[in-house]
Amino acid sequence: MTQTKSLQTALIHSDYTAPQGFAAFPQAIHHASTVLFKDVASMRSGNWHDKSAYTYGLHGTPTTFTLEARLAEIEGGTHCLLAPSGLAAIAMANFALLKSGDDVLLPENVYYPNRELGRWLSQDFGITARYYDPLVGAGIAELIQSNTRLIWTEAPGSVTMEVPDIPAICAAAHARGVIVGLDNTWSAGLALRGFDLGVDFVMQALTKYHSGGSDVLMGAVITRDKQLNDRLALAHMRLGLGVGADDAYLVLRSLPTMKLRFDAHDAGARSVAAWLKSRPEIASVLHPAFEDCPGHAIWQRDFTGAGGLFSVLFDASYTEQQTDRFVDALTLFKIGYSWGGAHSLVMPYRLHGMRRSWQQGGQLVRFNIGLESPQDLIADIAQALAAL
Ligand SMILES: *Cc1c(COP(=O)(O)O)cnc(C)c1O
Repeated sequence: MTQTKSLQTALIHSDYTAPQGFAAFPQAIHHASTVLFKDVASMRSGNWHDKSAYTYGLHGTPTTFTLEARLAEIEGGTHCLLAPSGLAAIAMANFALLKSGDDVLLPENVYYPNRELGRWLSQDFGITARYYDPLVGAGIAELIQSNTRLIWTEAPGSVTMEVPDIPAICAAAHARGVIVGLDNTWSAGLALRGFDLGVDFVMQALTKYHSGGSDVLMGAVITRDKQLNDRLALAHMRLGLGVGADDAYLVLRSLPTMKLRFDAHDAGARSVAAWLKSRPEIASVLHPAFEDCPGHAIWQRDFTGAGGLFSVLFDASYTEQQTDRFVDALTLFKIGYSWGGAHSLVMPYRLHGMRRSWQQGGQLVRFNIGLESPQDLIADIAQALAAL
């Protein structure tokens, strides 16, 4: 029997429930901080470890569980945890797997905020972070110490684009019981199968290709191993990481088109890179599908495609002032960080501040090829080269 309610209460409590049986393609967006329990017993039996039930909005809703399951499937894993940015996913992995007294190895060309997080862990958390040559391959064995717990890889490094030998690094690491993580953002999990190459977890910045809209920040860590996932889930819980329902929906909405977009970025980038390769102003094209790129043979062996992101080194006769003028003269390419969206982007980098061992001369400029016509992008670069 329905009790008589005052209007004030009726605004908050309603007896109406929509009919069952509604079906449509989009995943429903579940907004929730509070999750409701049927009765006290089900509240008491709730456990945030177990994704068969719901405890609190931060720890998952049907929307976020669905996105996690789909990402695990795309990457070839079995478990996934979402974080509010790619960098938050990196931090979750570091805090899950490292404690005071431990050592972590990072490639010198690693995503810069990951490198800086390593420096912070070294300064303030009693962890040592050491940086290795991304082309070290099996030589990583000599760098592993008895307290090394984690080796990060990134394929390729997203500014200088060296392609690492992941199977060789995994073999050396696993012989010493060290966990290997892969930042697989460049290939979106489509063109590089990290788990098949031996990594223990894959990190994705969903901010890039998965979202595809330059409008969402999100990250994920995917594993194939329940025990490893449990360690990550503890850090996820303790650090209070969660993502908003609308953001999760935006990523889910973009997944069906990701392969088509990725292939278009790939084709466009190769056209633009091939044109740049023919230009006398350009000393080398750092695109893994091109011979100039360190680790090109490894890309050929391990990858089935390439993303839209690559860099060029200008001839050493051009000054930074000149290449800055080139960047400013571009009109279709906008100056901005990130990539994976429809709009082409450009960014000049000062490598000497970022990479102590960087030997090559020449200014580095990074391009993210969007979904515009490659011919229009080439015409834009051609007119901007005149500003050199
Ligand atoms: C963008 C990016 C990240 C971080 O992602 P955010 O969501 O921007 O924090 C990590 N790794 C790589 C290679 C990236 O390109």
